Amino acid sequence: MFESLSQRLSSVFDKLTGRGALSEADVTEALREVRVALLEADVALPVVKDFVARVKARAIGQEVVKSVSPGQMVVKIVHDELIATLGTEGVELNLNAVPPAVILMVGLQGSGKTTTSGKLAVRLKKERKKVLLASLDVYRPAAQQQLEILAGQADVGSLPIIMGEMPVAITKRALEMGRKEGYDVVILDTAGRLHIDQELMAEVAAVRDVAKPVETLLVADAMIGQDAVTLAHEFNEKVGVTGIVLTRVDGDSRGGAALSMRAVTGRPIKFLGQGEKLDALEVFHPDRIAGRILG
Ligand code: GDP
Repeated sequence: MFESLSQRLSSVFDKLTGRGALSEADVTEALREVRVALLEADVALPVVKDFVARVKARAIGQEVVKSVSPGQMVVKIVHDELIATLGTEGVELNLNAVPPAVILMVGLQGSGKTTTSGKLAVRLKKERKKVLLASLDVYRPAAQQQLEILAGQADVGSLPIIMGEMPVAITKRALEMGRKEGYDVVILDTAGRLHIDQELMAEVAAVRDVAKPVETLLVADAMIGQDAVTLAHEFNEKVGVTGIVLTRVDGDSRGGAALSMRAVTGRPIKFLGQGEKLDALEVFHPDRIAGRILG
């Protein structure tokens, strides 16, 4: 997903690495190009500014002047800061709770929450966990049935649907079934809206208070671009996010949302959605992604 950014950065770096001493003007010019490349990769502006400022502070200081190959040094600084922005390591799910551990899936409508719930269920089942899926989406017609079908495909438990029941009541019933029937994990798939609205946030917060999730995963389309900052900030502020899942990474060549969302929330990106199938979920590895960005 970072192909175009990667190409841009390598052309910037090619100009630097072949040279000896670098002046402050050379570094400034290179960073201007890094800035454009990141913006073109759809990284949000405040995140780009902060990133470039950090690289510049290090690049113009002692490190570059004293190094044998200043160009290489700048490349290394950009690489290090990129990893620092993406997070330092792949972070697995936290299921540390008296069973059932609750995973709350949040995000906008169409972001891939329901599909990702199914993917996580498949993944956890492979780890020999007993998983229960429950849909709290009482607004979108057939949303609950969609999750029920996915549960069937994943061969995991599904909370029986009671038409007309509201999200908090469904949550209580899911927890009760989870406890009574010895489930290890309950995945709650919340309703999304087309835009962030306060009613949605209040409802998700009410569910969170009842469910006490160990993980609240913000699911976002990798194509979200500049809106990533508002989305990540709002959800983190109102419901508290523990991790991020970026979906449709298979269809995106830019990937700037990864940097933006991690930077805004300080929460790790845990998984990448790589397709519509239930096995198309990858653990996120920042170092590998940074390597891809830099080519
Ligand atoms: P929700 O409204 O957030 O629950 O979104 P859905 O899970 O229903 O997903 C919306 C659409 O996106 C569906 O057609 C999914 O098959 C598709 N989708 C979800 N995740 C991915 C992904 O990682 N890659 C691709 N290509 N499609 C995805």
